[in-house]
Amino acid sequence: MTDNTNDFTIDPWSSSNILDEDYNRLIEEFGIDTITDITREQFKKHKFIRRKVIFGHRDLNLIHKAIENNKSWAVMSGIKPSGPFHLGTMTTALEIIDFQKMGGKAYYCIADIESWEDNGIPYEEAEQTAVDNLADILALGLDPNNAYIWRQSKEPIVKDVCFKVGRLVTQNMVTAIYGEKPFGLYLAALIQVGDIVLPQIMDSPQPTIVPVGIDQDPHIRLTRDLTRRYYKNFFLPGATYHKLLPGLDGSNKMSKRNPNSYFTFDEPLESIEKKVRGAITGGRKNKKIQQELGGIPQNCMIYKILMYHFEPDDAKLAEEFELCIKGELMCGDHKKTCVERVLRFIKEHRQKKKAQLDKARKILEIE
Ligand code: SF4
Repeated sequence: MTDNTNDFTIDPWSSSNILDEDYNRLIEEFGIDTITDITREQFKKHKFIRRKVIFGHRDLNLIHKAIENNKSWAVMSGIKPSGPFHLGTMTTALEIIDFQKMGGKAYYCIADIESWEDNGIPYEEAEQTAVDNLADILALGLDPNNAYIWRQSKEPIVKDVCFKVGRLVTQNMVTAIYGEKPFGLYLAALIQVGDIVLPQIMDSPQPTIVPVGIDQDPHIRLTRDLTRRYYKNFFLPGATYHKLLPGLDGSNKMSKRNPNSYFTFDEPLESIEKKVRGAITGGRKNKKIQQELGGIPQNCMIYKILMYHFEPDDAKLAEEFELCIKGELMCGDHKKTCVERVLRFIKEHRQKKKAQLDKARKILEIE
Protein backbone atom coordinates (compact mmCIF):
# COMPACT_ATOMS: atom_id res chain seq x y z
CA MET A 1 0.00 0.00 0.00
CA THR A 2 1.07 3.55 -0.18
CA ASP A 3 0.09 5.45 2.86
CA ASN A 4 2.59 8.19 2.38
CA THR A 5 3.31 10.20 5.45
CA ASN A 6 5.78 12.76 4.26
CA ASP A 7 9.04 10.92 3.66
CA PHE A 8 8.24 7.36 4.65
CA THR A 9 5.85 4.77 3.39
CA ILE A 10 3.84 2.07 5.11
CA ASP A 11 3.26 -0.88 2.86
CA PRO A 12 2.11 -4.21 4.33
CA TRP A 13 3.43 -6.04 1.27
CA SER A 14 6.94 -4.71 1.24
CA SER A 15 9.60 -4.17 3.87
CA SER A 16 9.02 -0.84 5.52
CA ASN A 17 11.81 1.51 6.39
CA ILE A 18 10.53 2.96 9.62
CA LEU A 19 13.07 4.60 11.89
CA ASP A 20 12.76 5.17 15.63
CA GLU A 21 11.80 8.83 15.33
CA ASP A 22 9.05 8.00 12.88
CA TYR A 23 6.97 6.10 15.44
CA ASN A 24 5.78 9.24 17.20
CA ARG A 25 4.71 10.71 13.92
CA LEU A 26 2.84 7.53 13.01
CA ILE A 27 0.98 7.65 16.30
CA GLU A 28 -0.24 11.15 15.46
CA GLU A 29 -0.93 10.63 11.77
CA PHE A 30 -3.02 7.49 12.21
CA GLY A 31 -4.65 8.17 15.57
CA ILE A 32 -2.95 5.29 17.36
CA ASP A 33 -3.12 5.43 21.16
CA THR A 34 0.14 5.34 23.08
CA ILE A 35 0.77 2.80 25.81
CA THR A 36 0.45 4.76 29.04
CA ASP A 37 2.02 3.78 32.36
CA ILE A 38 -1.43 2.66 33.52
CA THR A 39 -1.86 0.36 30.50
CA ARG A 40 1.66 -0.95 30.99
CA GLU A 41 0.82 -1.80 34.59
CA GLN A 42 -2.45 -3.49 33.55
CA PHE A 43 -0.59 -5.63 31.03
CA LYS A 44 2.64 -6.17 32.94
CA LYS A 45 2.50 -9.90 32.29
CA HIS A 46 2.96 -9.17 28.60
CA LYS A 47 6.70 -9.01 27.93
CA PHE A 48 6.58 -6.76 24.88
CA ILE A 49 4.26 -4.26 26.57
CA ARG A 50 6.43 -4.25 29.70
CA ARG A 51 9.60 -3.75 27.66
CA LYS A 52 8.05 -0.98 25.49
CA VAL A 53 8.52 -2.95 22.27
CA ILE A 54 4.77 -2.48 21.85
CA PHE A 55 4.46 1.29 21.61
CA GLY A 56 0.86 1.83 20.57
CA HIS A 57 -2.59 0.29 20.38
CA ARG A 58 -6.19 0.61 19.38
CA ASP A 59 -8.82 -0.42 21.94
CA LEU A 60 -6.51 -2.44 24.19
CA ASN A 61 -8.56 -1.02 27.07
CA LEU A 62 -11.48 -3.23 25.95
CA ILE A 63 -9.33 -6.28 26.58
CA HIS A 64 -8.50 -5.03 30.05
CA LYS A 65 -12.21 -4.48 30.73
CA ALA A 66 -13.04 -8.00 29.52
CA ILE A 67 -10.35 -9.47 31.78
CA GLU A 68 -11.64 -7.46 34.75
CA ASN A 69 -15.23 -8.56 34.12
CA ASN A 70 -14.34 -12.14 33.32
CA LYS A 71 -15.78 -11.88 29.80
CA SER A 72 -14.57 -13.68 26.66
CA TRP A 73 -12.01 -12.01 24.46
CA ALA A 74 -9.82 -13.08 21.59
CA VAL A 75 -6.29 -12.58 20.31
CA MET A 76 -5.91 -13.02 16.57
CA SER A 77 -2.87 -13.08 14.31
CA GLY A 78 -1.24 -15.28 11.77
CA ILE A 79 1.64 -16.02 9.46
CA LYS A 80 2.18 -15.94 5.73
CA PRO A 81 3.69 -19.37 4.93
CA SER A 82 6.42 -18.09 2.67
CA GLY A 83 9.50 -19.19 4.60
CA PRO A 84 10.93 -20.40 7.91
CA PHE A 85 10.50 -18.62 11.25
CA HIS A 86 12.82 -15.73 12.01
CA LEU A 87 13.07 -13.06 14.71
CA GLY A 88 10.25 -11.00 13.18
CA THR A 89 7.71 -13.84 13.01
CA MET A 90 8.77 -14.90 16.49
CA THR A 91 7.82 -11.45 17.84
CA THR A 92 4.20 -11.77 16.71
CA ALA A 93 4.06 -15.40 17.83
CA LEU A 94 5.21 -14.55 21.35
CA GLU A 95 2.78 -11.65 21.51
CA ILE A 96 -0.13 -14.02 20.79
CA ILE A 97 1.16 -16.53 23.33
CA ASP A 98 1.43 -13.89 26.08
CA PHE A 99 -2.12 -12.69 25.40
CA GLN A 100 -3.33 -16.30 25.41
CA LYS A 101 -1.67 -16.82 28.78
CA MET A 102 -3.57 -13.77 30.04
CA GLY A 103 -6.87 -15.51 29.22
CA GLY A 104 -7.67 -14.78 25.58
CA LYS A 105 -8.60 -17.50 23.14
CA ALA A 106 -6.00 -17.54 20.37
CA TYR A 107 -6.99 -17.45 16.70
CA TYR A 108 -4.08 -18.17 14.38
CA CYS A 109 -4.35 -18.04 10.66
CA ILE A 110 -2.10 -19.51 8.00
CA ALA A 111 -2.32 -16.84 5.32
CA ASP A 112 -1.82 -19.07 2.29
CA ILE A 113 -4.11 -16.97 0.08
CA GLU A 114 -1.85 -14.03 0.81
CA SER A 115 1.32 -16.04 0.10
CA TRP A 116 -0.17 -16.92 -3.29
CA GLU A 117 -1.28 -13.38 -4.11
CA ASP A 118 1.86 -11.71 -2.78
CA ASN A 119 4.57 -14.27 -3.49
CA GLY A 120 3.05 -16.60 -6.09
CA ILE A 121 3.40 -19.65 -3.83
CA PRO A 122 0.77 -22.28 -4.78
CA TYR A 123 -1.34 -23.62 -1.87
CA GLU A 124 0.17 -27.12 -2.15
CA GLU A 125 3.66 -25.71 -1.94
CA ALA A 126 2.73 -23.58 1.08
CA GLU A 127 1.48 -26.66 2.97
CA GLN A 128 4.83 -27.91 4.24
CA THR A 129 5.89 -24.39 5.23
CA ALA A 130 2.58 -24.03 7.06
CA VAL A 131 3.24 -27.23 9.03
CA ASP A 132 6.75 -26.03 9.80
CA ASN A 133 5.56 -22.56 10.92
CA LEU A 134 2.80 -24.03 13.08
CA ALA A 135 5.24 -26.44 14.74
CA ASP A 136 7.39 -23.39 15.55
CA ILE A 137 4.64 -21.52 17.35
CA LEU A 138 3.52 -24.66 19.19
CA ALA A 139 7.13 -25.15 20.31
CA LEU A 140 7.21 -21.55 21.51
CA GLY A 141 4.24 -22.28 23.77
CA LEU A 142 0.93 -21.72 21.95
CA ASP A 143 -1.68 -23.90 23.64
CA PRO A 144 -3.66 -25.61 20.85
CA ASN A 145 -6.41 -26.51 23.34
CA ASN A 146 -7.39 -22.86 23.67
CA ALA A 147 -6.88 -21.91 20.04
CA TYR A 148 -8.50 -22.08 16.63
CA ILE A 149 -6.05 -22.49 13.75
CA TRP A 150 -6.99 -22.33 10.07
CA ARG A 151 -5.69 -22.04 6.55
CA GLN A 152 -7.32 -19.22 4.59
CA SER A 153 -7.71 -21.42 1.49
CA LYS A 154 -9.71 -23.99 3.48
CA GLU A 155 -11.78 -21.72 5.69
CA PRO A 156 -15.25 -20.88 4.29
CA ILE A 157 -15.89 -18.15 6.87
CA VAL A 158 -13.08 -15.90 5.67
CA LYS A 159 -14.03 -16.31 1.99
CA ASP A 160 -17.63 -15.54 2.87
CA VAL A 161 -16.63 -12.32 4.67
CA CYS A 162 -14.55 -11.30 1.65
CA PHE A 163 -17.65 -11.38 -0.60
CA LYS A 164 -19.97 -9.85 1.97
CA VAL A 165 -17.86 -6.82 2.76
CA GLY A 166 -16.65 -6.62 -0.86
CA ARG A 167 -19.78 -4.76 -1.91
CA LEU A 168 -18.86 -1.92 0.45
CA VAL A 169 -15.42 -1.49 -1.06
CA THR A 170 -14.71 0.75 -4.03
CA GLN A 171 -11.67 1.05 -6.22
CA ASN A 172 -11.03 4.51 -4.77
CA MET A 173 -10.97 3.13 -1.23
CA VAL A 174 -8.41 0.42 -1.88
CA THR A 175 -6.26 2.69 -4.00
CA ALA A 176 -6.29 5.31 -1.24
CA ILE A 177 -5.25 2.73 1.36
CA TYR A 178 -2.92 0.45 -0.61
CA GLY A 179 -2.04 2.29 -3.81
CA GLU A 180 -2.23 0.55 -7.16
CA LYS A 181 -1.71 -3.20 -6.61
CA PRO A 182 -2.62 -6.43 -8.39
CA PHE A 183 -6.30 -7.17 -7.80
CA GLY A 184 -5.42 -10.36 -5.90
CA LEU A 185 -3.76 -8.34 -3.15
CA TYR A 186 -6.96 -6.35 -2.63
CA LEU A 187 -8.79 -9.69 -2.35
CA ALA A 188 -6.18 -10.95 0.11
CA ALA A 189 -6.79 -7.78 2.17
CA LEU A 190 -10.52 -8.58 2.31
CA ILE A 191 -9.75 -12.18 3.25
CA GLN A 192 -7.71 -10.73 6.14
CA VAL A 193 -10.76 -8.75 7.20
CA GLY A 194 -12.43 -12.19 7.41
CA ASP A 195 -9.53 -13.54 9.50
CA ILE A 196 -9.85 -10.67 11.96
CA VAL A 197 -13.62 -10.85 12.44
CA LEU A 198 -13.69 -14.68 12.45
CA PRO A 199 -13.49 -14.94 16.27
CA GLN A 200 -16.65 -12.87 16.61
CA ILE A 201 -18.46 -14.86 13.89
CA MET A 202 -17.44 -18.25 15.30
CA ASP A 203 -18.02 -17.37 18.91
CA SER A 204 -19.90 -14.22 19.84
CA PRO A 205 -19.26 -10.49 19.54
CA GLN A 206 -16.26 -9.89 21.81
CA PRO A 207 -13.18 -7.69 22.06
CA THR A 208 -10.42 -8.92 19.79
CA ILE A 209 -6.82 -7.80 19.83
CA VAL A 210 -4.53 -8.22 16.83
CA PRO A 211 -0.79 -7.89 17.60
CA VAL A 212 1.00 -6.56 14.53
CA GLY A 213 3.97 -4.58 13.35
CA ILE A 214 3.10 -1.01 12.47
CA ASP A 215 3.40 -1.89 8.77
CA GLN A 216 0.16 -3.88 9.04
CA ASP A 217 -1.92 -0.93 10.24
CA PRO A 218 -3.57 -0.39 6.83
CA HIS A 219 -5.28 -3.79 7.23
CA ILE A 220 -6.42 -2.87 10.73
CA ARG A 221 -7.91 0.42 9.57
CA LEU A 222 -9.70 -1.24 6.65
CA THR A 223 -11.06 -3.96 8.94
CA ARG A 224 -12.31 -1.47 11.51
CA ASP A 225 -14.00 0.57 8.81
CA LEU A 226 -15.76 -2.45 7.27
CA THR A 227 -16.70 -3.91 10.66
CA ARG A 228 -18.27 -0.60 11.62
CA ARG A 229 -20.36 -0.63 8.44
CA TYR A 230 -21.20 -4.33 8.00
CA TYR A 231 -21.03 -6.06 11.39
CA LYS A 232 -22.77 -3.39 13.38
CA ASN A 233 -23.11 -5.43 16.59
CA PHE A 234 -19.42 -6.51 16.61
CA PHE A 235 -16.65 -4.92 18.64
CA LEU A 236 -14.24 -2.99 16.42
CA PRO A 237 -11.14 -5.19 16.31
CA GLY A 238 -8.29 -3.64 18.29
CA ALA A 239 -4.58 -3.90 17.72
CA THR A 240 -1.22 -3.56 19.39
CA TYR A 241 1.74 -2.25 17.41
CA HIS A 242 5.32 -3.31 17.96
CA LYS A 243 8.48 -1.65 16.76
CA LEU A 244 10.07 -3.59 13.93
CA LEU A 245 13.55 -4.98 14.57
CA PRO A 246 16.18 -3.32 12.36
CA GLY A 247 18.71 -5.42 10.48
CA LEU A 248 21.47 -7.13 12.50
CA ASP A 249 24.03 -5.53 10.24
CA GLY A 250 22.84 -1.99 10.89
CA SER A 251 20.51 -1.75 7.90
CA ASN A 252 17.06 -0.25 8.54
CA LYS A 253 15.24 -3.54 8.24
CA MET A 254 15.64 -7.30 8.28
CA SER A 255 15.24 -8.25 4.65
CA LYS A 256 15.67 -11.33 2.48
CA ARG A 257 17.50 -9.16 -0.01
CA ASN A 258 20.18 -8.65 2.61
CA PRO A 259 21.05 -12.07 4.13
CA ASN A 260 23.34 -10.63 6.84
CA SER A 261 20.47 -8.57 8.25
CA TYR A 262 18.62 -11.56 9.74
CA PHE A 263 18.73 -15.30 10.30
CA THR A 264 16.11 -18.00 10.08
CA PHE A 265 15.61 -20.68 12.71
CA ASP A 266 16.61 -23.47 10.35
CA GLU A 267 19.88 -21.93 9.21
CA PRO A 268 23.13 -23.78 10.03
CA LEU A 269 24.32 -22.84 13.53
CA GLU A 270 27.66 -21.60 12.15
CA SER A 271 25.83 -19.16 9.90
CA ILE A 272 23.65 -17.89 12.75
CA GLU A 273 26.74 -17.47 14.91
CA LYS A 274 28.55 -15.55 12.18
CA LYS A 275 25.62 -13.17 11.70
CA VAL A 276 25.18 -12.47 15.40
CA ARG A 277 28.94 -11.94 15.75
CA GLY A 278 28.75 -9.52 12.84
CA ALA A 279 25.85 -7.56 14.38
CA ILE A 280 26.25 -3.83 14.72
CA THR A 281 26.77 -2.63 18.31
CA GLY A 282 26.54 0.67 20.11
CA GLY A 283 30.16 0.29 21.19
CA ARG A 284 32.93 2.87 20.90
CA LYS A 285 36.07 2.86 18.78
CA ASN A 286 38.19 1.14 21.38
CA LYS A 287 38.12 -0.25 24.90
CA LYS A 288 39.56 2.87 26.50
CA ILE A 289 36.93 5.20 25.03
CA GLN A 290 34.18 2.73 25.87
CA GLN A 291 35.32 2.65 29.50
CA GLU A 292 35.32 6.45 29.56
CA LEU A 293 32.09 7.20 27.72
CA GLY A 294 30.13 3.96 27.97
CA GLY A 295 28.32 2.25 25.08
CA ILE A 296 24.99 3.16 23.50
CA PRO A 297 22.70 0.14 23.97
CA GLN A 298 19.80 1.98 22.28
CA ASN A 299 21.77 1.74 19.02
CA CYS A 300 22.93 -1.82 19.55
CA MET A 301 21.49 -4.88 17.81
CA ILE A 302 23.01 -7.19 20.43
CA TYR A 303 21.04 -5.38 23.12
CA LYS A 304 17.91 -5.27 20.95
CA ILE A 305 17.78 -8.99 20.17
CA LEU A 306 18.41 -9.78 23.84
CA MET A 307 15.58 -7.44 24.79
CA TYR A 308 13.15 -8.86 22.22
CA HIS A 309 13.97 -12.52 22.51
CA PHE A 310 16.97 -13.88 24.29
CA GLU A 311 17.04 -12.43 27.81
CA PRO A 312 14.01 -13.59 29.77
CA ASP A 313 14.95 -11.79 32.99
CA ASP A 314 13.99 -8.07 33.12
CA ALA A 315 16.39 -7.38 36.00
CA LYS A 316 19.34 -8.91 34.14
CA LEU A 317 18.50 -6.93 31.02
CA ALA A 318 18.34 -3.70 33.02
CA GLU A 319 21.65 -4.54 34.69
CA GLU A 320 23.35 -5.12 31.33
CA PHE A 321 21.96 -1.78 30.07
CA GLU A 322 23.39 -0.01 33.13
CA LEU A 323 26.77 -1.70 32.84
CA CYS A 324 26.94 -0.81 29.15
CA ILE A 325 26.25 2.89 29.58
CA LYS A 326 28.68 3.07 32.50
CA GLY A 327 31.41 1.55 30.35
CA GLU A 328 31.68 -1.51 32.55
CA LEU A 329 30.56 -3.99 29.90
CA MET A 330 32.63 -4.55 26.77
CA CYS A 331 31.09 -5.44 23.43
CA GLY A 332 33.31 -8.47 22.81
CA ASP A 333 32.25 -10.12 26.08
CA HIS A 334 28.62 -9.16 25.64
CA LYS A 335 28.51 -10.47 22.09
CA LYS A 336 30.00 -13.76 23.23
CA THR A 337 27.27 -14.17 25.86
CA CYS A 338 24.62 -13.19 23.34
CA VAL A 339 25.87 -15.72 20.77
CA GLU A 340 25.79 -18.45 23.44
CA ARG A 341 22.21 -17.57 24.40
CA VAL A 342 21.01 -17.44 20.78
CA LEU A 343 22.60 -20.79 19.91
CA ARG A 344 21.28 -22.42 23.07
CA PHE A 345 17.79 -21.15 22.27
CA ILE A 346 17.94 -22.37 18.66
CA LYS A 347 19.17 -25.85 19.68
CA GLU A 348 16.47 -26.25 22.33
CA HIS A 349 13.80 -24.84 20.04
CA ARG A 350 14.65 -27.32 17.30
CA GLN A 351 14.19 -30.20 19.74
CA LYS A 352 10.84 -28.88 20.94
CA LYS A 353 9.71 -28.19 17.39
CA LYS A 354 10.52 -31.71 16.23
CA ALA A 355 8.12 -33.01 18.84
CA GLN A 356 5.34 -30.74 17.51
CA LEU A 357 5.48 -31.55 13.79
CA ASP A 358 2.94 -34.39 13.90
CA LYS A 359 0.54 -32.30 15.95
CA ALA A 360 0.91 -29.44 13.45
CA ARG A 361 0.14 -31.79 10.54
CA LYS A 362 -2.89 -33.10 12.35
CA ILE A 363 -4.25 -29.64 13.15
CA LEU A 364 -3.85 -28.49 9.55
CA GLU A 365 -5.02 -31.85 8.15
CA ILE A 366 -1.91 -32.15 6.00
CA GLU A 367 -0.28 -35.54 5.38
S1 SF4 B 1 28.33 -3.53 25.64
FE1 SF4 B 1 26.69 -4.78 24.83
S2 SF4 B 1 24.90 -3.50 24.85
FE2 SF4 B 1 26.66 -2.16 25.08
S3 SF4 B 1 27.07 -1.50 23.00
FE3 SF4 B 1 28.40 -3.25 23.44
S4 SF4 B 1 27.26 -5.05 22.72
FE4 SF4 B 1 25.84 -3.33 22.85
